Amino acid sequence: MSGLELRNIVKNFGAVEVIRDVSLAVNDGEFIAFVGPSGCGKSTLLRLIAGLDKPTGGSIAIDGADVTAIGAADRGLAMVFQSYALYPHMSVRENLAFGLENTKVAKAEIEARITDAARMLEIEPFLQRRPGQLSGGQRQRVAIGRAIVRRPDAFLLDEPLSNLDAELRVSMRAELAALHARLKATMIYVTHDQVEAMTLANRIVVLRGGRIEQVGTPLELYNKPANRFVAGFIGAPH
Ligand code: ADP
Ligand code: MG
Repeated sequence: MSGLELRNIVKNFGAVEVIRDVSLAVNDGEFIAFVGPSGCGKSTLLRLIAGLDKPTGGSIAIDGADVTAIGAADRGLAMVFQSYALYPHMSVRENLAFGLENTKVAKAEIEARITDAARMLEIEPFLQRRPGQLSGGQRQRVAIGRAIVRRPDAFLLDEPLSNLDAELRVSMRAELAALHARLKATMIYVTHDQVEAMTLANRIVVLRGGRIEQVGTPLELYNKPANRFVAGFIGAPH
């Protein structure tokens, strides 16, 4: 099979079971959103997919190959965090190049990718600036650009818009949709904002207490919520 497959994933922190038997298949090119209240395990699940953390039980496969024991750098995925995680002492250009410089990617290719991503995200005028000299929206674009230049098979985005004001959040939403249409890469998008999930995702995974409550298209969740929790969270009449 191609894509990403989670099989019976469990994650414990000490005695606390934070992810409880999560199984899910994500198709190549899909825009899938993980939604659920704060503390339900969204970020933990994303970190397990990224390889930043190891599951206590279960397995993860990418394109049919078991990657459960493989580290983040070798999974072909790129993560974008809510906090941007940019290096404050480096220029935007250096932030974009960072992490590619000690790889097999040739210098000219790195330059070409930076130019391409900067154009796509309209951050070309800011390449020499430092993150501190940018607005929140510009910083978030740089964080996304840093993922794009790595040419990942999948983007893992953890509440990437939640630090932005409401107006910017809506316009960035449209930009993310356009980006997905252009790159055709898989996007796994964590948010606690159901409206964001409903407008962006092909499929939504609703989590509660470390378990999947329901998986479906926005319309399926809206029209046929599996239970009162999903109905309440998605905002359908119930
Ligand atoms: P969400 O992203 O949905 O808000 P998280 O995945 O961050 O939720 O957290 C899920 C649960 O796991 C929470 O109860 C949180 O306190 C706990 N948790 C997350 N990371 C750790 C950790 N490194 N050590 C201990 N507990 C953790
Ligand atoms: Mg989180």
